[in-house]
Amino acid sequence: MKLHEECGVFGVFFDDPAKDAVPLVYYGLFSLQHRGQESAGIAAACDGSIEVRRGMGLVGDVFTPEVLSQIRGSAAVGHVRYSTSGSSAIENAQPFVSRFKLGSIAVAHNGTLTNADVMRELLEDSGVGFTSSSDSEVIVNLIAKNYRKGLERALTDTIKFIKGSYALAVLSGDVLVGARDPNGIRPLSLGRLDGGWILSSESCAIDAVGGVFVRDIEPGELVIINRGQVLSFSFSEKTRRAVCAFEYVYFARPDSTIDGVNVYEARIRAGEILGREEAERAGAPGKVKADLVIGVPDSGIPAAIGYGRATGTPYGLGIVKSKYIGRTFIAPGQASREKAVSVKHNVIHGEVRGKRVVIIDDSIVRGTTSRRLVSILKGAGAKEVHFRVCSPPVRFPCFFGIDTPHRKDLVSNVNSVSELCKFLDADSLAFISLEGLLESLDPQRAGNTENNGHGYCLGCFSGEYPIPVPGEAGMECGRA
Ligand code: AMP
Repeated sequence: MKLHEECGVFGVFFDDPAKDAVPLVYYGLFSLQHRGQESAGIAAACDGSIEVRRGMGLVGDVFTPEVLSQIRGSAAVGHVRYSTSGSSAIENAQPFVSRFKLGSIAVAHNGTLTNADVMRELLEDSGVGFTSSSDSEVIVNLIAKNYRKGLERALTDTIKFIKGSYALAVLSGDVLVGARDPNGIRPLSLGRLDGGWILSSESCAIDAVGGVFVRDIEPGELVIINRGQVLSFSFSEKTRRAVCAFEYVYFARPDSTIDGVNVYEARIRAGEILGREEAERAGAPGKVKADLVIGVPDSGIPAAIGYGRATGTPYGLGIVKSKYIGRTFIAPGQASREKAVSVKHNVIHGEVRGKRVVIIDDSIVRGTTSRRLVSILKGAGAKEVHFRVCSPPVRFPCFFGIDTPHRKDLVSNVNSVSELCKFLDADSLAFISLEGLLESLDPQRAGNTENNGHGYCLGCFSGEYPIPVPGEAGMECGRA
């Protein structure tokens, strides 16, 4: 079964050893819950040793008051994990902890290593045992193996061997370490606390615990947070920022800013550009014949607002999403996925009845959600349903941590836009262009058709990845 590592990491370090970092990590994980709902864990360093608590489920379910009271420490790291159900297992819950003669370390990892199988084999050949099928355990075992050289060397040596995407929060004795892969595919930011420091996958979680955002960790940067100081090292000369564009499209929270680009603003701009491209296509600027534009909650909403502004189409709610249902995208099997999708969204009949409706979603992957949405809008009496998508067609799998199915299940890989429009039973269908998406992420680039050096991984849209990727089959059989 293929493993997906779509996760959130959070770490807190207090200068004062008497302070407890665990409650803040708990709140930080709550704010990163959208990045993973399958398991949650916190590891805390106290008196030179590391204690960990991990469990399956949401942060609030795993960390009951009783469990929370069992661990404390002035430095702690936490993790939320999201995977396909087949690989869902407590052994794969993070942080991973390794205890050895010279000390202990805990590792929280967001990303996917592309050479995990080779590294695992090498480690196993040298007598290292594994307890999980997660590629993140390779990292903890590599650090442990090199630990006698000192933490900093152990980390830089580990980083030299691993390939792929990683945002890491590592705890060792009284040191908190953050690292981001040389392309910075997954986000990681640094925050300041009164008397301490924070590492977080997203800036929204820094705000949530009352911290102040300081900066993003740079691609290929290692930060070592020790009492009173933050040391920064560049571990790779070959850095080229290629942050995942899908973080802005779907994955991250709108109140986060990643690498200087606010997620909400990028989504608003994507909607505006979609509206502009629509007008350009129609050859009649501003003339989009719809009575209402609605967004698919949550990530489609800012784009619908932007589209409404750009085209003069009134924005309304139209679709309501259950707040208590997890991200159903990964429900196993098409039948249960369709059922889950119908529980997830409902339509406000009075808002759409008799109207020509433009509906905007962030992405179409398998087409299950969009097909069902068109059907419920028409069922509620919408006169026309025009589907718009504020990312280009997803045609290629992600090898770096976003859960995308096999190529054959990507509906845009096997259908043209007009075939897909028929499949959805929509009156029209259009996607934002790749250029348009890039412009939404960098408004300065309008009109600049030069694609090189744009700073984003667009692999799922273009099939061009920032680093070599294994064949899909290779990825599959390499995993437990
Ligand atoms: P689908 O129904 O397969 O076309 O999936 C598209 C819907 O799932 C959109 O509404 C997206 O917001 C959402 N989505 C896109 N990518 C993911 C992902 N990696 N995990 C969970 N949901 C996703």
